[in-house]
Amino acid sequence: MLLSAKTAIISGAASPHGIGLATARRFAAEGARVAILDIDASTAADAAASLGRSHIGLRCDVADKSSCEQAVARVIESFGSIDILINNAGITQPVKFLDISPADWDRIQDVNLKGILFLSQAVIPHMRARKSGSIACMSSVSAQRGGGIFGGPHYSAAKAGVLGLAKAMAREFGPDGIRVNCVTPGLIGTDITAGKLTDEMRAKILEGIPLNRLGTADDVAGIYTFLASDLSAYVTGAVIDVNGGMLIH
Ligand code: NAD
Repeated sequence: MLLSAKTAIISGAASPHGIGLATARRFAAEGARVAILDIDASTAADAAASLGRSHIGLRCDVADKSSCEQAVARVIESFGSIDILINNAGITQPVKFLDISPADWDRIQDVNLKGILFLSQAVIPHMRARKSGSIACMSSVSAQRGGGIFGGPHYSAAKAGVLGLAKAMAREFGPDGIRVNCVTPGLIGTDITAGKLTDEMRAKILEGIPLNRLGTADDVAGIYTFLASDLSAYVTGAVIDVNGGMLIH
């Protein structure tokens, strides 16, 4: 098993059809103990229980620094150590540039970008002390192509910010044995689009995907598993596309 005796935190992993829960399932199957952190305590606890008894689910609002610190302290109390952090939580909003309100901008940046800063700041001192850790951060193809999929320009900006932040983290913490990488999925069939993805939008997107299908949560879970495991021991600061060839250039 790729992750035996490892412990992992995955943020935004309580949603039933989401990338986070698919990743939690995959990690558990590879031998890891998983802490699911999500915005609602009981949904997080239920998601963790669905994986088996050795896993935990905790409330954590990644956009709130003290919430991140409290959740990470509880994970360390329960598991004793943290080997892997998957910064997966995110929200989106399909809105045009001129319609982005100050509140929209803040909400999208806070969860998608600042959330990665806060949760990583809570975990890194622990990883640094152990001279070991793997962190993977969720970006998006929207960061690379300036949207045009579902999320608005503020989502593209936040996800592009993730790429810069993660690469800077990879530089700063490489000497401490901490690897930091990003995944950039294309359109993945989850509930994040909240029923707002029309058949017409879907058909148009499919035209630009050489593998001729939308992605699945498991497609991304496999890449997170690679980045979390020692298979990627010499990979840091990397960005891995999971998009069916949507961005071949
Ligand atoms: P999802 O809506 O199923 O999952 C997102 C999870 O994040 C949910 O469980 C939600 O409760 C949680 N969350 C939201 N705000 C939070 C907060 N403040 N603190 C903690 N948790 C919070 O959607 P998904 O598609 O599985 O999205 C997972 C990640 O993948 C997101 O970062 C998203 O932006 C990114 N992504 C998704 C796609 C796609 O097409 N689905 C493509 C590229 C990137």
